[in-house]
Amino acid sequence: MKHEPDILAQLEGTLGPGRVEQSVPLAPMTTFRIGGPADFLYRARTTDELAGGITCAKRLGVPYFLLGRGANILVGDLGFRGLVIRSEVGGIDFLDEGRVRAGSGVDTFPDLIDETVARGLGGLHHFVGIPSTVGGALWQNLHFLEPAPARKRTVFIEEVLESAEILASSGERRTVDVDYFEFGYDDSILHRNDDVVLSATFRLEPAPTDELRRVMRENLEWRADRHPDLALFPCAGSIFQKIEGVGAGRLIEKCGLKGHVEGGAQIFTKHANIIVNLGSATAADVRALIALARETVARETGHELLPEIGFVGEF
Ligand SMILES: Cc1cc2nc3c(=O)[nH]c(=O)nc-3n(C[C@H](O)[C@H](O)[C@H](O)COP(=O)(O)OP(=O)(O)OC[C@H]3O[C@@H](n4cnc5c(N)ncnc54)[C@H](O)[C@@H]3O)c2cc1C
Repeated sequence: MKHEPDILAQLEGTLGPGRVEQSVPLAPMTTFRIGGPADFLYRARTTDELAGGITCAKRLGVPYFLLGRGANILVGDLGFRGLVIRSEVGGIDFLDEGRVRAGSGVDTFPDLIDETVARGLGGLHHFVGIPSTVGGALWQNLHFLEPAPARKRTVFIEEVLESAEILASSGERRTVDVDYFEFGYDDSILHRNDDVVLSATFRLEPAPTDELRRVMRENLEWRADRHPDLALFPCAGSIFQKIEGVGAGRLIEKCGLKGHVEGGAQIFTKHANIIVNLGSATAADVRALIALARETVARETGHELLPEIGFVGEF
């Protein structure tokens, strides 16, 4: 960014001395482990800090990106020009009648799921094994299949969300209920405005802990058979949006692209809607595979693949 020292001074003037880091590699903050540096990074640890960081960036006219666990994005090789605000807002508070409030930077898995299941509260346990913060989960309406043996219906996080505190686009802080989010499949109103989730309150159902743990074990086994182990194969989950009744992954597989390698990135051998980082992948490698899959599937099947992940920064 131009005039970086001035901007740093202005950001720190509001956010506090030493609170804004400069030239921070973003790759380690994403599950793809790909991406160049952010000019500036601010780690927001409380709801006040998160609201303050966003308000400050807007007031100074500094471009910003709100980062959760980085599990649904691809950051460009040149990084991000501006301020990345990482929600590290913690806090898990148990209220009455199975209600639990969590900060937007809390990991749904393992932290929130472990704590709620330990108290015999079910509802979030379906999402075991999925990397996400609470904020990212509402942005995308986190989802997974209902427990075995059915595994037909999709369970969404909206089903257990009661309310959330947001910083609205207008700059006002308020509490909104579940309907406000206009949830859909991989969708919420957060895709269409720049509201920020500060914290969320979930209403969970009492259930035997053993039973919840059984479902979690089965879900983890199901995932292990189909999804890459993130420690070995960094990735961002499904790359393309669901195509009802057909399946984006199945179309890519039908076109013979499963296992195809571009630089350090590969179309995953077990699940063709996932691209994995073999260790040295660049964002350019991933984009080349995305382009290849889109062109090939359009030409050979007539279906249009639309990316589900977000593209952040400069490529
Ligand atoms: C191995 C793997 C498996 C996956 N499996 C599934 C799955 O089964 N089901 C599923 O639904 N998803 C799955 N995903 C996708 C991913 O886990 C979810 O989309 C997750 O909710 C992303 O959360 P995050 O905190 O990482 O968000 P990020 O990737 O950091 O951000 C995603 C978007 O959310 C916005 N955002 C983040 N925090 C906030 C906030 N506080 N307020 C407003 N907006 C915010 C960001 O600005 C960005 O636009 C998988 C991903 C991986 C890597």
